[in-house]
Amino acid sequence: MDVRRRLPSKPAASERKPTPSTARVQASDALPLPIRHTNKIFSALFMAALYFLMCRWREKVRTSTPLHLLTLSEIFAFVSLVASLIYLISFFGITYVQSSIPSNEDEIDDEVVVNDRHFPPALNAPSTSPPPPPCPLLVDTSDAKIPSFCPDDNDDEIVRSVVSGKTPSYILESKLGDCRRAAGVRREVLRRITGSAMQGLPLDGFDYQSILGQCCEMPVGYVTLPVGIAGPLALDGRIYYLPMATTEGCLVASTNRGCKAISVSGGAESVVLRDGMTRAPVVRFGSAKRAADLKFFLEDPSNSDTLALVFNRSSRFAKLQGIQCALAGKNVYMRFSCSTGDAMGMNMVSKGVQNVLDYLQDDFPDMEVLSVSGNFCSDKKPSAVNWIEGRGKSVVCEAIIKEEVVTKVLKTSVPALVELNTLKNLAGSAVAGALGGFNAHASNIVSAIFIATGQDPAQNVESSHCITMMEVVNDGKDLHISVTMPSIEVGTVGGGTQLAAQAACLDLLGVKGSNLESPGANSRLLATIIAGAVLAGELSLMSALASGQLVRSHMKYNRSSRDITQAAAAAVAAVRNPSEKTKSQ
Ligand code: ADP
Repeated sequence: MDVRRRLPSKPAASERKPTPSTARVQASDALPLPIRHTNKIFSALFMAALYFLMCRWREKVRTSTPLHLLTLSEIFAFVSLVASLIYLISFFGITYVQSSIPSNEDEIDDEVVVNDRHFPPALNAPSTSPPPPPCPLLVDTSDAKIPSFCPDDNDDEIVRSVVSGKTPSYILESKLGDCRRAAGVRREVLRRITGSAMQGLPLDGFDYQSILGQCCEMPVGYVTLPVGIAGPLALDGRIYYLPMATTEGCLVASTNRGCKAISVSGGAESVVLRDGMTRAPVVRFGSAKRAADLKFFLEDPSNSDTLALVFNRSSRFAKLQGIQCALAGKNVYMRFSCSTGDAMGMNMVSKGVQNVLDYLQDDFPDMEVLSVSGNFCSDKKPSAVNWIEGRGKSVVCEAIIKEEVVTKVLKTSVPALVELNTLKNLAGSAVAGALGGFNAHASNIVSAIFIATGQDPAQNVESSHCITMMEVVNDGKDLHISVTMPSIEVGTVGGGTQLAAQAACLDLLGVKGSNLESPGANSRLLATIIAGAVLAGELSLMSALASGQLVRSHMKYNRSSRDITQAAAAAVAAVRNPSEKTKSQ
């Protein structure tokens, strides 16, 4: 039997902890021999028994012997036939059915395997299943060492118990069964220990239940952030109003001006070049030769179907696209890439990677798994691999800005913009040794929209990789501007996207939750909108710099008095002409 048809089996290494996904019982789990051998044995047994019984049957018909009179060898052959048939059906049939039906069980696996996190269904997905079990963090674990108190106890007693160290702060939610009350108690504990009441930090007005086991542990309140709206942005024939959460004055106004310039010039267009989240575990061998064996095995195209089958089994949305291997001596870094539907996909890809690592352990028993992430992924760090290969969504977005728009709206000229772009975003960044930083302030826009829409703000690092190009077109009159962003890591389900405020911002963009007709369409659309917003931001800030307004406006606004009337007047002026003040450079 071809090894590539082999099913995933449990890891051989005894120290490995089985996860729920790998703990699924299979017929092959009970077998003492490597599975490819048992496959061969049972297939041969089946054929031999079948052949023998057919011969005997023909013989009996020829000699008119009653068929029900069985000899010992016939009984043995019959039993062998049935046993091998059961083995082969359980091996191929059940797994085939399991892999072809996206069962609820798949999703349950999906929800509990990684980090003990619970993921509710997508916000706009119709739900017919019974309500999910309570979050494990709300279930009383009854640790004998922790003093028991009941929810009816006085808050003051509970606070004293936590302050004295008898009750750990992290257990308040499960002990009290009330997330808001737990946050209040924790806040009071903090006040007694530090003397700081954190008066400016709001406590009420937030759904603490919604972050439990998902977004934040041990909450004591929430930070408020203003959300501004830039736009409309005309992109790919549609209009978008961009929610931006920021405390950087003028950022929204500046992006708004860029949106205006794009929209009156006919709009921008975008293309998603690639869509795949990556995760790269690191494993170790006894020799570089064995490490190379694994690399060749994983990169052999004839193994790709089996590896995809193994990888994809923990989620109906995860689809393995490829594995890229790099060696450092006897250590192998395998960069798995997969599509993840509308999820940003880190959990999904990690589960798929774990499936493959477990599977590989049979053929490479000398493989030592060091970490499911070995930094060749590369998550939340600037790296050439993301810049060159891409991670998440790779998007290019372009627009042609008419000469009169550059003059009237952006208050500069096409040659000045082109020259500045070459000297600043290309040559200047080269002088600085930039990695993916060939732009003016892509991260400003990326961060603001990330925070507003519930993305992971730390992924701003690679999501802001961007090269901004400006070239003259139409006989040297108009400006062609583009942003190419290889690693926009966004999702519209999971993580912070399900919180009420963030979901409202996604809804404004028409990308809330899971896209039921075409999973992944919402998250790809969000990535193109972010690229369009970056295009607007680049256009406006570069114009402010080209027209020499930036330093003047900094001198003016950074030293303005705190007088409210003046501040309000300055804000109005900034909205009218954002190039007057922009901190970003
Ligand atoms: P991430 O991998 O980005 O951390 P999560 O694991 O938090 O994502 O969320 C993905 C969850 O959302 C999974 O349980 C998945 O089954 C579910 N889901 C529902 N609809 C979709 C969809 N359209 N695309 C991707 N995942 C979806």
